[in-house]
Amino acid sequence: MARIVQKFGGTSVGTLDRIRNVARKVEAEVKAGHQVAVVVSAMAGVTNQLVQYCTDLNRIHDPREYDTVVAAGEQVSSGLLAIALQAAGIPARSWLGWQLPLRTDDTHGKARILGIDTQAIIERMAAGEVAVVAGFQGVAANGRITTLGRGGSDTSAVALAAALNADRCDIYTDVDGVYTTDPRIVAKARKLTRITYEEILELASLGAKVLQTRSVEMAMRHRVPVQVLSSFVEATGSALPGTLLVDEDKNVEELLVSGIAYSRDEAKLTLVGVADRPGVAAGILGPLADAAINVDMIVQNVSADGSTTDLTFTVGKADLDRARQVLEAVRATLGYQRLVADSNVVKVSVIGVGMRSHAGVAQMMFKALADRGINIQVISTSEIKISVLISEEYTELALRALHTTYGLDQA
Ligand code: ADP
Ligand code: ASP
Ligand code: MG
Repeated sequence: MARIVQKFGGTSVGTLDRIRNVARKVEAEVKAGHQVAVVVSAMAGVTNQLVQYCTDLNRIHDPREYDTVVAAGEQVSSGLLAIALQAAGIPARSWLGWQLPLRTDDTHGKARILGIDTQAIIERMAAGEVAVVAGFQGVAANGRITTLGRGGSDTSAVALAAALNADRCDIYTDVDGVYTTDPRIVAKARKLTRITYEEILELASLGAKVLQTRSVEMAMRHRVPVQVLSSFVEATGSALPGTLLVDEDKNVEELLVSGIAYSRDEAKLTLVGVADRPGVAAGILGPLADAAINVDMIVQNVSADGSTTDLTFTVGKADLDRARQVLEAVRATLGYQRLVADSNVVKVSVIGVGMRSHAGVAQMMFKALADRGINIQVISTSEIKISVLISEEYTELALRALHTTYGLDQA
């Protein structure tokens, strides 16, 4: 008998039929004699709709109320799955974040998990009841509802698996594993049977939505055995050929580049005519950091006239309005000429631990893009990845070209 956490994403619980399908997958594990906790996302599209309601009322709104609103999606799906399980004769009950409780800090909209009280669900699971846990949500010390950031149900699931010391954490989604790149964009993408924690961490943080970045960090830290599986194929658990997250030495595939990710979530800001003197970058980036706005890629152009320069950087699209506000406010002190914003950009990244020991990976990328007439606006690199910012219209062309260039296309 094992203790298992299963997580089902939005598409997997998107209709009542699909919720019944999820109930069958849970049932299979229960029938196999396992103790099961299930984490669910909101039904597909619901969270987006709830976010939209908040912004339609007020573009910049109270993040505590935002959390109250957007957490509602998971309340519905967890209750519905409990009903479906009961209808199939399986004892089950729903657990909301505050009921466990899953305790978080008070960073509303992207709260961090502090701990999960599992005593109550462990007792109920031991008595044969399935715990259906609402993903994405928690509760702050002051009792207010929090959410964990978009895609946060993955993190709820891995955190719960860690707290329950579960034997497995199965992430069921609408693709049957982690691919070399988004299989919805590149038809020739290949499924990886194993991926290292490090690589999936880069893929996730560079935009691959298949797992939330924090869920991977948590799986790494607590050694949670995670696999990514499809909720739409008829089998469950370890029998399924999904993708297993493994340590580096267990990774079988020796690839130069193991994955390609893209993110449409960033926007480019350029400050034109900034004084070219020490302290200017700090003067710009400091106020943004104070406003909790993350700056990602940065490039400072050479100064043409020796006194002024252009500084280009990217921020999350969701932060663009606030970033502009912040930069307008410091304009007098910084003395730049113009602020130019561009949201029609995409960040494309190639990732691979093989890069550590091989030169020329970047050159291959630049050439492949150049051959297709794709202009690179900003570049950033780390030990195991190279990212470029390009015009959004070239997303698919770039992904396909790079996938072929690095020999990732399936036969
Ligand atoms: P869920 O609702 O189950 O959490 P998500 O939409 O958050 O599902 O994540 C799954 C999606 O991630 C897939 O439908 C796919 O389009 C996208 N994706 C992006 N990159 C990859 C990748 N490298 N491998 C698999 N899926 C990916
Ligand atoms: N429902 C939330 C979202 O759409 C959380 C999740 O799906 O993981 O972001
Ligand atoms: Mg997701």
